Amino acid sequence: LGHASVEGVTAAIAEGHVHAAPAASLDYPRLAEYRASGGYGLLAALEGGEVSIDDLAQMIEQAGLRGLGGAGFPTFRKWGFVRAEAGPRYCVINADEGEPGTFKDRCYLEREPHTFLEGALASAHAIEAEALYLYLRDEYPTLNDVLRECIAELEAAGLVASGFIHLRRGAGAYICGEESALIESLEGKPGKPRQRPPFVAQCGLFGRPTLVNNVETVYWIARLHREGHAPYVAAGRQGRQGLRSFSLSGRVRCPGMYLAPAGITLNELVEEYGGGMAEGHRLRAYLPGGASGGILPASKADLPLDFDTLQAHGCFIGSAAVVVLSDQDDLAAVARNLMSFFMDESCGQCTPCRVGTRQMLAALSGDEWDEALLARLSQVMMDASICGLGQAAPNPVLGLLKDFRETLASSGVRLIATSHAADATGGE
Ligand code: SF4
Repeated sequence: LGHASVEGVTAAIAEGHVHAAPAASLDYPRLAEYRASGGYGLLAALEGGEVSIDDLAQMIEQAGLRGLGGAGFPTFRKWGFVRAEAGPRYCVINADEGEPGTFKDRCYLEREPHTFLEGALASAHAIEAEALYLYLRDEYPTLNDVLRECIAELEAAGLVASGFIHLRRGAGAYICGEESALIESLEGKPGKPRQRPPFVAQCGLFGRPTLVNNVETVYWIARLHREGHAPYVAAGRQGRQGLRSFSLSGRVRCPGMYLAPAGITLNELVEEYGGGMAEGHRLRAYLPGGASGGILPASKADLPLDFDTLQAHGCFIGSAAVVVLSDQDDLAAVARNLMSFFMDESCGQCTPCRVGTRQMLAALSGDEWDEALLARLSQVMMDASICGLGQAAPNPVLGLLKDFRETLASSGVRLIATSHAADATGGE
């Protein structure tokens, strides 16, 4: 997991990590094979006019496709915002998969890079983009080779104009997964999130209207068109619709990336897909959305793992990186480690996040946790941070204070509330 790993839960996460392999050894369909099975049919249909942009937008609306990078924004609406702005426009694909515990995009790119590229080109077509930029996580060097190879194949076959697709490498910063920081980085500047408005749909890459989509989102555009969206829509449990790609890791027998019905619960995911809990481990807690999605106890393992349900419990599913923790994991250490991660990854441009993460970590460092201070720091960070990193950083700590008080006590943490907590946020 490189730069974005969380050492405290490394053992758990690492079990689900897909190891690097040389590009040549990856068994993905090359261009000829992909085209023989109907691949790039969507692109031809869009260019030939048999499928209009409105037809495609309607299909993804009916399929209920939402942004799968973490925000969950309806994809067709994002297209609409960008298309409403005057050109030239750019399309950017966020392949900077840095959320700890997340490896789904990597799996799709390794297994079906041409499906991804077809979806990315369809998205670019949908907003009549001048160019398509792929921003790839630098810790995925194999994929850099794979994508370069695939783009060269496409150019050689005349399916895409030479130079239309730009493949760019990130430099290992978690914050560059945030779309405006990613755009800054693409422009050659330090990856720092921008204040909004204006939104990137209005003023994005090089000051132009920009569509930013996640790898998996565009992957599904090509696949849904090829296979039809009816089976996708029919999937789902407990009234939910569609499929979700879960990166399941931690204390389970078979960690991995699993495509499972939306609305599945943690218990079902572990039992039906993950082969049950690892030998000798009993479920204690889980992170439903990587480092930033909060933490939930075993007693809430029957909740549907979806956007709305988890939000009502102070958590979010984000990119569906589910990390399973057991009675053998020290949750106080997990909290320290996650906060340390956020402190390291803060870009430092706003005080609530830059100072707040440091003060939160200091407050978590001993056996006495000042609850009033932690609550006040959390509030300031959530209210006043510029971007999601600072806003979400307190989530794991707040989850522990809410649902794990006995567990904390049994691991030697004493919760106290000092009267001077209100003054403790002043100064660095
Ligand atoms: Fe940077 Fe943190 Fe502020 Fe985001 S919240 S802009 S990461 S300092």
